[in-house]
Amino acid sequence: MNTALVTGSSRGIGAACAAALARAGYKVCINCIERIDLAEKLRAQLENEGCRVMCRQADVSDGEAVRAMVRAIEDNFGPVDLLVNNAGIAIPQQFQDIKPETWKHIFDVNLGGCYNTIQAVLPHMLHEHSGCIINMSSIWGQHGGSCESAYSSTKHAIIGLSRSLAAELAPSGIRVNCIAPGVIDTDMVQVLGRETLDMLSREQIPLGRLGRPEEIAHTVLYLAGAGYTTGQVIAVDGGFII
Ligand code: NAD
Repeated sequence: MNTALVTGSSRGIGAACAAALARAGYKVCINCIERIDLAEKLRAQLENEGCRVMCRQADVSDGEAVRAMVRAIEDNFGPVDLLVNNAGIAIPQQFQDIKPETWKHIFDVNLGGCYNTIQAVLPHMLHEHSGCIINMSSIWGQHGGSCESAYSSTKHAIIGLSRSLAAELAPSGIRVNCIAPGVIDTDMVQVLGRETLDMLSREQIPLGRLGRPEEIAHTVLYLAGAGYTTGQVIAVDGGFII
């Protein structure tokens, strides 16, 4: 049985990915920065179903905390074979209002988090000549979004990181892919307000509705098993950008 780490998985897309992987037979570490109670609730629910799950609170932007989390996973479940870099934050603002510390914080979490987790799990993957890394980008990683310059920059960078690592690590048997979700119905997008979300569904999204976290989890499961796919960016956006 393989071991998966899903960062930012106490709620939303990450929680759906952790649940889908656990139900598919992976031993899963649920990670979050806050509300560990939500992670523990998900763990209890999945354990009731017979899944093997652990929880670990760690800030992905903190390299030492990430290394400690990976060591704890190795002690409990064995080394990480599947890494889903899902933790991410968005702080929509006009560019001229973004303070340097806010800009740095978004980069530290969204991009620095990927650096920290990949650094921590890579030695084992290289040793095993096998591994799968899935990074969560966004449609704003492929296109520009007004008031999303910092977020969009990090999500573009995640695609660059994924493609470069895919090329570098393919000879070592390690696959690296990206998912670019559209507007998915989670806490993250509630800041837009229900009226705007309804308008987006009606006028911007050809499939006529927001995405569900489970629909991203479905793509994670697909990529986890897609042994001949690497360096790809898969959009899951209801046709938002065609
Ligand atoms: P969410 O805000 O609902 O959940 C975020 C999760 O990340 C939580 O579990 C939180 O504890 C965790 N987290 C935040 N900062 C962290 C940190 N520093 N260290 C560890 N964990 C941290 O978000 P979501 O909508 O589920 O989004 C998940 C991912 O998908 C993000 O990377 C986001 O950018 C991306 N995404 C979301 C959407 C969307 O419409 N919801 C669209 C495109 C991309």
